[in-house]
Amino acid sequence: MPIKIASESLHACSGCEISILDMGEKLLELLEFAAIVHLPLLMDSKHDSPKKNPRTIKLPKADVGLISGGIKTREHLEVARALRKSCDLIVALGTCATHGGIPALANSYGNDDLLGRCFNTKGTDKADSFPSDGVPGMMDTCSALDEHISVDIFLPGCPPHPDHIFKALESIEKKELFSLPDKSVCDNCPATRNGNGQVKALKRSLELPNWRVYEGKEDFICFLEQGFLCMGPVTKDGCGGNTDSARCIMAQVPCRGCYGPVKKEGNQRLAMLNALASNGIDISSLPETVSMLRFSGGHGLLRPIDRRKESK
Ligand code: SF4
Ligand code: SF4
Ligand code: SF4
Repeated sequence: MPIKIASESLHACSGCEISILDMGEKLLELLEFAAIVHLPLLMDSKHDSPKKNPRTIKLPKADVGLISGGIKTREHLEVARALRKSCDLIVALGTCATHGGIPALANSYGNDDLLGRCFNTKGTDKADSFPSDGVPGMMDTCSALDEHISVDIFLPGCPPHPDHIFKALESIEKKELFSLPDKSVCDNCPATRNGNGQVKALKRSLELPNWRVYEGKEDFICFLEQGFLCMGPVTKDGCGGNTDSARCIMAQVPCRGCYGPVKKEGNQRLAMLNALASNGIDISSLPETVSMLRFSGGHGLLRPIDRRKESK
């Protein structure tokens, strides 16, 4: 019997579902042991509208529920609860689901600020009130999934590598444990580290990093030592899938931290400030530090700016 998979997308961009398709030929292999019974982005399957009655959401029974996206509206919450109820295992698919992801940057603002920005800024039609008819109510914060429902497997990444999506589903079918290595992006990085960063202020990422030919091989000095903000020291490794090579680094771009903190309970921003300081970079040269958490602002790590000021 194939394992049944049901999937829903909450506060998400659908990139995680595209990553399922990015498996390529492996998708055919997946379909030999798995049947997708519900995945609105790829097939015409819808749940009942919760606008009329939030408790009416009906989803098919499945062995595995893949949920991408965090929770920002009442509808997201009800859909997540309904899938939890109808599936034996829940996989948090992607960094929005595991850590809040890009949408959790909204946690730096209150809902009135967010709605005002959308509906009442220059260039938009002036509105006396925000739309509410038929619109799901907003929660105060954008949360990771495990802040509201229990999650069995965490698959971070923006998006997660298709190899890992396949491996996670295969391990469920084989009744094996699945986990990503507890390593940082730095642990697998081929950069040369001299241990003597000479740069005192961060450079803009628009500048080109230095690459060189060293002993006949193409080589580069650690981005951080060159003064570029590379989140490798505090970011979970795995984005290269089976290749073991971090995707951005191999494209000569510093890591932005999309796999979330290397330690589950870690505060990626504090750990990164520490890494910058120990590389000799003057932290006061950073224009701001909120964007360091642009993938991991759930779990109460980002709060509205005025509340942050008050708590200082
Ligand atoms: S984790 Fe990235 S790719 Fe997946 S839904 Fe969120 S923003 Fe999109
Ligand atoms: S900081 Fe970036 S460039 Fe330097 S070793 Fe770590 S991942 Fe590589
Ligand atoms: S290098 Fe960093 S930002 Fe780039 S894909 Fe990997 S974890 Fe994400």
